Amino acid sequence: MLAPDELGPTLCIGEILVEIVADTVGQGFTEAQALTGPFPSGAPAIFIDQCGRIGGSAAMIGTVGDDDFGRLNIERLHRDGIDVSAIAVDPELPTGSAFVRYRPDGSRDFVFNLAHSAAARIGWTDPVRRIIDRAAHLHVMGTALAMTPAWPLIDDALESVRARGGTVSFDPNLRKELITDPQIGPRIQRVMAMTNLLLPSEAELELVGTDPERLFAQGISEIVVKRGAAGAIAYRPGEDPVASPAFVVEERDPTGAGDCFGGAYVACRRLGLTVQRALDYASAAGARNVTFIGPMEGAGTRAELDAFIATTERRT
Ligand code: ATP
Ligand code: MG
Repeated sequence: MLAPDELGPTLCIGEILVEIVADTVGQGFTEAQALTGPFPSGAPAIFIDQCGRIGGSAAMIGTVGDDDFGRLNIERLHRDGIDVSAIAVDPELPTGSAFVRYRPDGSRDFVFNLAHSAAARIGWTDPVRRIIDRAAHLHVMGTALAMTPAWPLIDDALESVRARGGTVSFDPNLRKELITDPQIGPRIQRVMAMTNLLLPSEAELELVGTDPERLFAQGISEIVVKRGAAGAIAYRPGEDPVASPAFVVEERDPTGAGDCFGGAYVACRRLGLTVQRALDYASAAGARNVTFIGPMEGAGTRAELDAFIATTERRT
């Protein structure tokens, strides 16, 4: 039901940034401390990296600065098989960044440089036009819906990908409390109206509607709910739900699990795997990623995920 992989790449549009992670658990950044990074990051970039790494055809649209943080990201995505031709390099602004420190209760303190970074300079270029015209699947990452300059590109890509018989997946990836921009509601509605595959977390279901039957009536044909350490479950119209019990892992850095899960799931479905197998790879991708420090450091190749699945216990 998703456009097959050979029709053209999965495209993701949005922020590319580096993440710098505090070595210790505690409260924020008001004193000097040990940090590790920079790591390549940004939810859309993590998604597309896992999508390419597992063997899916993949392309990314975003903007970085003319600096090492930008080069680090482009090199990683390129290494993992992503088409980076539509990643622009802004000559003035630095690459976006996020400093993150975990608190003892698992919540996070952030210092972001996004709105005034190269990431916010995303916009039309010739390579952007070309990649949108070649994409067979668009993955919309909710974080990018809060980036006003990204919206015209996403809106155009929704239309052109669907017009060519391509498909759309959507990870809301937005917390209710973060939605202050009055434009975001209508953007979510527009994306939902074009979505084939929905990939919400349990909390995000409240944002888009909790009743699968109502979502199916809107044209969505597959809903995969991410439930953190409780695993994941897929719903399709007229079929029994398919569950994937979580793998038992030691969580070292939870950032990026949902994005890796989505990237693996979309790639596997587009490569023709069944819902059950795609769900198992996606759960493995999410679980493996939380065992690595850095938001996309644990993104796995198919061989790495096969090895992980073969050697990791699952919850019963
Ligand atoms: P985020 O947006 O913060 O990256 P999310 O809410 O979109 O996260 P999660 O449910 O946290 O997504 O993680 C996605 C999937 O990864 C889960 O459904 C599960 O399969 C796997 N996963 C995540 N965390 C763990 C964990 N601690 N143990 C085992 N599996 C996990
Ligand atoms: Mg998420």
